[in-house]
Amino acid sequence: MSSQIYQTKQYSGLHRPGSSQITRQLIVLCATFNCLTITTVMKKENEIELEQCVSRTSEDEIICINKEKTFDTLRLSIENELKNLILHLFLNKDTNSLRVFPEKDFDMNGYEQNLEILKQSEQKNQHFSSVILLNYILAIYRHLKALTDLTPELVLSNLKDYLEMVYKSREHPIEIDTLIYEKCQNLLKKKLTEIEESGQILSNPKLDKVVELLKKHAEQSNNRALVLVERTFYAQKICEFLQNHSELKPCWLVGQSGIDSRKFNKKEDPKLNGFRTGVYNVMISTDVVQVGLDMPECSLVLRYDFVPDSIGTVQARVRARTISCTYYLITTKDSQNYSKELDNRQCEQDLKQVLETWKRIPSDQFKEQVIAKQACLITEWNESLIKALTIETTITKNTELIGDVLCRACGYLLGKLSRVRQYKQSYFVNDHDFYNRIEEKLSSEPQEHSKISVIGKVLCLNKNCRAKLGRIQVLKDLPKMSPIYPLKCESIKIKQIEKESGKEIIILKKKWIKMPFTIPFLEISCTQNNDDVFYDACDVLSSD
Ligand SMILES: [Zn+2]
Repeated sequence: MSSQIYQTKQYSGLHRPGSSQITRQLIVLCATFNCLTITTVMKKENEIELEQCVSRTSEDEIICINKEKTFDTLRLSIENELKNLILHLFLNKDTNSLRVFPEKDFDMNGYEQNLEILKQSEQKNQHFSSVILLNYILAIYRHLKALTDLTPELVLSNLKDYLEMVYKSREHPIEIDTLIYEKCQNLLKKKLTEIEESGQILSNPKLDKVVELLKKHAEQSNNRALVLVERTFYAQKICEFLQNHSELKPCWLVGQSGIDSRKFNKKEDPKLNGFRTGVYNVMISTDVVQVGLDMPECSLVLRYDFVPDSIGTVQARVRARTISCTYYLITTKDSQNYSKELDNRQCEQDLKQVLETWKRIPSDQFKEQVIAKQACLITEWNESLIKALTIETTITKNTELIGDVLCRACGYLLGKLSRVRQYKQSYFVNDHDFYNRIEEKLSSEPQEHSKISVIGKVLCLNKNCRAKLGRIQVLKDLPKMSPIYPLKCESIKIKQIEKESGKEIIILKKKWIKMPFTIPFLEISCTQNNDDVFYDACDVLSSD
């Protein structure tokens, strides 16, 4: 077990917005809220008074754990299996019948929040099967992330127990619930047996380091240590892990956002009291505020790879009120958390500098800058408003087509003509119901192109026909829209109803552009950024 201690001062000059940019952003902010004057604390005695009211953050020593090959190989293989399970649940028509997909890609930042937002909107629309699916996926994703922090066995068994508890709490689970549950349990049971039989390492190098530090610290009988973790189930699981070491007497406490937070009484809590009196010598928690650091015995605070997104959102770095307390952040070198921590620290430095610059800007000069910025903002807002209105009117004008899209070979109904949308050279039915009218055939080897991947084909759902209607494409630059199902014009026919006479016309064309009517473009939000991505992605699309 090797590890290195890095002095944080060695690292500087990472790419991040400088203090001059922050000053500019403050002016934009003031312009938006029509705030023309700013008062700052100028007097020395007021500054000192303010200083005493504010909790300052601690300067933790960063301990970087080196990567261990055997552990990483095992971790990555399990990570991949869970990732494939998530993809399978999303792409399978039986588990995702309403075809909901998150906007973000799996490996992107904010994927979890993205899933949460999607779940909320599905809840609002009362699409319960999608809500069930997303609940499973969220649980799997959170556990997948936990593989870097806990042992593989702890993660898999916790996920298995959690899913079992949730599933068994339902009196009459619906079909899709049972289907997903069984798919998950089968994989988890298989993996757990594999780990058990192979006798593979049941540890995590980061956890080993924690044990090492805690044991050393516990040599002095009156010492107490606090371990801060990101998620509630980490607290519980790490506590279980530490119980295997006789020198350590661990307990855990959930954060304030937990369900029982209202009932929580700091003075009467048995765990907190036990920690104070020495029944426990290690406390694992998600929240430093709730534990409170006003006890002189607490002389070690370990942040277990826990870095808040921005300053002040999570009180993970509040300084303890004891004088001789050591702080560590345990993380992996080159990890996301490592650079996030450095960024946060630099950001604090920048803000301090900005406040100094701020005080030196004369008030009339500041006012001038804000007024000038306001004029710019108003012009920008007007322009985007006009653009949005133009787009809205074109869409309503175009969607007046009446009729159906049918399979050319057998006449099977595929969707409403009014729902057909154009996406440069691609034409498809933009409607949830469409996915229930076709059969998706995923290919074993997706064809990768620079901007799209073709992951399968679309067949007519009519069992006696099963004609190929088009293909399934994932747009790499536009995961929000993916996958799309462009239809081959030669494989479909249109039955259009003439508005005035009510007459039926059958239209058979080789190319979509030869259709006797205009097919509306897919509604895309009108911001500049999206337009750019949109046209880039379309250059490589073709359905014919
Ligand atoms: Zn057909």
